Amino acid sequence: KPIMRLVDVCRTYSTGEGALEVLKGANLELRPGEMVGLVGPSGSGKSTLLHTAGLLESPDSGLVEIDDVDAARMSERERTLTRRKKLGFVYQFHHLLPELNAIDNVAAPLMIDGVNRKIARERASKLLQAMGLSERERHQPGQLSGGEQQRVAIARSLANQPRVLIADEPTGNLDPMTTTAVFQSLFDTARTEQVAVLVATHNLELTTYMDRVLTLKDGQLTDADI
Ligand code: ADP
Ligand code: ADP
Repeated sequence: KPIMRLVDVCRTYSTGEGALEVLKGANLELRPGEMVGLVGPSGSGKSTLLHTAGLLESPDSGLVEIDDVDAARMSERERTLTRRKKLGFVYQFHHLLPELNAIDNVAAPLMIDGVNRKIARERASKLLQAMGLSERERHQPGQLSGGEQQRVAIARSLANQPRVLIADEPTGNLDPMTTTAVFQSLFDTARTEQVAVLVATHNLELTTYMDRVLTLKDGQLTDADI
């Protein structure tokens, strides 16, 4: 049963040159533990799709549903809570807090949600272990390599036990070896935690890790030809 559904999602931007139809009936179903790649040239609408799935932008028409709840029927507050509790986000450039060590960076979202420090740290420690960073728990971001920092950011994005992880070029600034290691950890952890992962990437080699790879063609999602 899908955890997230996009049905006939349309999105048009008005520009100086007139209307730009970016999404023209995009359909997507994400199932728990599934890793789905999104590839395609710059400007094809990947970010628009991720922002729509991430409840950061509303479609002009069509349905966005998470856990059977229609996002259009959520209040602004419910939308924020859904983002916080059911969705996780990973970006090309992580935003770790430089003065906190790895474990406290990962525990932070839990403590913000009122989880007590001990339990938050236990969960953080488990996630860092899953990401292969047990030896780095007490290191601050500045003491970690780029790949390690990105793995801390991924662990943090999973802290609240999201149902869907939305990742926009999560390894865009990493070297190929590090990229592979980060993806392997992300993949294993997502499977174990039964998180659906939607990841936009330019790196076609990463598609070997995906269950499915999609691309936007004429504003619609289709199986990528790779
Ligand atoms: P991608 O992530 O694949 O590069 P985007 O979703 O960022 O694609 O953009 C798709 C198209 O929509 C591009 O032509 C972009 O210039 C345009 N676009 C994106 N956001 C806006 C906006 N807020 N206003 C007008 N045009 C936009
Ligand atoms: P709060 O800051 O109160 O937790 P927000 O609505 O600012 O609530 O953020 C909720 C979630 O949405 C956070 O996980 C955040 O990372 C993500 N988020 C907020 N704004 C953006 C944005 N512009 N692009 C991508 N993700 C965002």
